[in-house]
Amino acid sequence: MKQFQFEYKSFGQFKNELTKIKQWESSHIVSKTVLQVYSVELENSIFIEMFAAIDEILPDAIYLGCSSNGNIIDGKISESDIIIICTIFEYPSTKVKVLQYDMDNPAKAAEMLAEEVNKNNWVKAIEFLVTMRGKSMTDFCDYMTGIREDVKIFGGGAFAPDINSNTACVYSKEKGYSEDGVVFMLLGGEDLHIDSMYITGWKPLGRNFKVTSADGFILKELDNKPAYDAYYKYLKIKNDENFFCNTLEFPFLYKHNGIDLLRAPVSSNPDGSLEMTSDMEEGVNARIAYGDPWTILDSVNNCVADVGEFQPEVIHIFSCAGRRTFWGADEVSNETFPFQSIAPTSGFFTSGEFLRTGKYLNQHNVTLVIASMREGEKTNKSKETSVRKEKFSGKVSMVNRLATFIEAATEELEEANRKLALAVVTDGLTQLLNRSEITRIIREAVKNKNEKLCLVMLDIDNFKSVNDTYGHKEGDNVIIALSDILINVSEKSEDIFSGRWGGEEFMLLFKGFDLDKTADIAENIRKKFAETKFKKSENKTISVGVIEVKDDETADTACIRVDSALYDAKKNGKNKIVIF
Ligand code: GH3
Ligand code: MG
Ligand code: MG
Repeated sequence: MKQFQFEYKSFGQFKNELTKIKQWESSHIVSKTVLQVYSVELENSIFIEMFAAIDEILPDAIYLGCSSNGNIIDGKISESDIIIICTIFEYPSTKVKVLQYDMDNPAKAAEMLAEEVNKNNWVKAIEFLVTMRGKSMTDFCDYMTGIREDVKIFGGGAFAPDINSNTACVYSKEKGYSEDGVVFMLLGGEDLHIDSMYITGWKPLGRNFKVTSADGFILKELDNKPAYDAYYKYLKIKNDENFFCNTLEFPFLYKHNGIDLLRAPVSSNPDGSLEMTSDMEEGVNARIAYGDPWTILDSVNNCVADVGEFQPEVIHIFSCAGRRTFWGADEVSNETFPFQSIAPTSGFFTSGEFLRTGKYLNQHNVTLVIASMREGEKTNKSKETSVRKEKFSGKVSMVNRLATFIEAATEELEEANRKLALAVVTDGLTQLLNRSEITRIIREAVKNKNEKLCLVMLDIDNFKSVNDTYGHKEGDNVIIALSDILINVSEKSEDIFSGRWGGEEFMLLFKGFDLDKTADIAENIRKKFAETKFKKSENKTISVGVIEVKDDETADTACIRVDSALYDAKKNGKNKIVIF
């Protein structure tokens, strides 16, 4: 594999470079020549001229490319508007095929691709360029799931120099220039090896927010409050012209298909909703993540070490335009230049980065997607990369330490909150629900009644004598023994709730159980308790009332009725069940 990379300076210089490639080709065995053209210039006429020159000088070359928010060449941001990456594959087994489809129907494009891949067993990877600004790419990504799982997929969204612009283009030898299209490059063959990975360097910070309302890439509410509130309350980020830059340091991080995705707000609307870089799903838990240069470089250098192991001959990078905004044009190369020490590194700043992880194609944001390629086997000698993993692990930035501190403190608070929340609804002696919680559950069930509801109330018979004869401690043991039986019963079904109503009185709610079934379970409880032996006191018994809640009845009247049933059981000799 041979790589030529150059910046476009003039048409004459461009033709000269093509001629140099042609000369190199004449003295080498060439399998396929691929030219990738990335451009911050969207003007069609420039491309027409360039493509005509390629067709003339390198008639067998394949070419493709797209508009971008900036270009990466030799691992650094390019000063030039247009860059040309020429990859010459030298192994006869290597195959390359370019397809271009319209994006008016993204799902259809993905479907046509899948069909083509299934016809061609040699395909190992698909690199693609796509116009996607202002489009939901969820369907497109979902359709890709059907493609053979061993095929790697990665790519980038075409973009424009102005981050607020929705205009972008892709082009290829296949179908020329398109402002609404996708170009897929299928790569494969037995000697071509391709690896792909992603890194963000952003780390989660603080607590979870639940996405309670979202529609495509409009994030409406977090925890039932306008999404913008989170940025103002926790980070004091104002909704002004710096909003995008400021929130970029703190995008949302959430799990999708088992992997971490970042989503940054592009702008905030008057209603407090946020327009995000791409779709977010309702119901997921998202956290604010932070990016700081030191932590990012730490991740980059670990990744460089991994990429180095693969021994690539060429590295393609799809980097989010937001990363350029985050670092600034002067410093953004800090995170791409280390790759150049491994192999010629090129790419562009995208409007969205795509990478398949496992079965799923995910749309990333604020991320670096890195694809490595090599023809032939690894050489024995591993190339020394300029940075080693260990070199960075010693030092940790202040921001990183503070974030770790917040993370640990948040975890402790959340744990304390969970315990508190549980304590508020639990009876201390018995671990059953307390009276206010069982009352709340009964009231809610009666209010929303759409199935049979039954109540069971029980009271220990002659309990006072236990206390009087054997002491309060033994009394507690008897109460706990009955409670354990009740806990056991409610653990068997999510639709049985048991609570402590008072001293030695208990209340159970049965959802979706009829009166007979409820009475059977109550009878089992009565028997089981009657058989329980205590250390000091003799066996004890309970009296039980059972009712079915009537349709026109309130929770309070139902509780009064079950109490009367229990009273009847007491009156009629105790140790029995009365069903009303
Ligand atoms: P009956 O068969 O009519 O229900 O008679 P009883 O003795 O069981 O009924 P009563 O309501 O007169 O007595 C209940 C006693 O339970 C009174 C109270 O001191 C005791 N008690 C209430 N809560 C606790 C507790 O948490 N632990 C202990 N050991 N005793 C308690
Ligand atoms: Mg009693
Ligand atoms: Mg009582």
